[in-house]
Order: sequence, then C-alpha cells, then structure tokens
Amino acid sequence: MVRFGVPFSYAASKNRMYVKRRRGHVALRREVVALREQIVLAALGALNGRRIAHNKVWLEIVVQKPDNRGDAVNVVDLVCDAVKRAIQIDDRWFCIRRLDWEIVKADPLLKIGIGQDSDEDCLVCSQCGQIRPLGEFKRRRTGRLAYGRICAACRHAGRGLAESLAGGVAP
Ligand SMILES: [Zn+2]
Repeated sequence: MVRFGVPFSYAASKNRMYVKRRRGHVALRREVVALREQIVLAALGALNGRRIAHNKVWLEIVVQKPDNRGDAVNVVDLVCDAVKRAIQIDDRWFCIRRLDWEIVKADPLLKIGIGQDSDEDCLVCSQCGQIRPLGEFKRRRTGRLAYGRICAACRHAGRGLAESLAGGVAP
C-alpha cells in the first residue's frame, strides 16, 4: 500500500464538479481538473515507478474536511479517475478498502492509498468469472485483445459440457 495526500477543498465534491457551458455543454470545473491533475502527479510521485499488475487495486480514501458540510463519498469518482490515469489499469479492477473522513480545519488533505494483494497479471474469465493468471488464457495473434477471455479450466470443461448437453444429461 502506497499512501499520499493532496490539499483538499470542496472543489472535489461531486455537486460542484461540473459547470454548464454555452449550448448546454457540461464540463468539469477547472478546479476539479486541477485537483485531478494534482492527484495524478502525487500518485506518480508516491509510486515512484513501481509496477502495478493487472489485478485488484485497493484504494483507501480519507477525506479531511474543513467542516461538516460536504460528504466524503462525493470524491470517490474523482479519485478513481485520477488513479486510473496515474496507474493505467482499467478501473474495473478497482475496489475500495476504506472510505473515511475527519474534520481538519487547518490544511485539510485528501489522503489516498493505493495497494495490491498480488503483483501477478491476471484476467477475469468471461465464463466462470474467476480471476486467473494470464498464462491460463490463450495468446492471440490477431484482434484487439492480446488474450482470449476464457480460462484453461473452462476451455477444457466446455468440451465435456457440450458432450453432456448433446447427450441430454444435466451438467
Ligand atoms: Zn473460467
């Protein structure tokens, strides 16, 4: 788990994240974009070139609020977006281990932790839903994905299942 913090203000809160532009366009507020970039830079600095595996990414978020107005859950989207930009891992891998807040009147921080239980690159099998090591998936020479989506156990079971279904026997 790598931990870091950035100065926090309510600019990060969800109901203040967007502004209406002309012709109904909605844009991220400039302060929010600035805060996101600050989180990206702080994350990159804290990780210091450490490799992040394609595996579960656990986040800890502690919001130090200057008063008891905004709610801590509002920052989740922004933090996830920023961390995703920093570590370049699909946010489907993201989980939240801790989401907490405390009142800190002087120099409040948005404290963020990024951690992994395993440094093994994995994929989620599209059939059984299990997280399996990359080596259990077929390499592909063509197509957008470098690997097939079905794990070795399911590929092998698939043949048996097809045979039992053809025979009218419940799997
Ligand atoms: Zn599978």
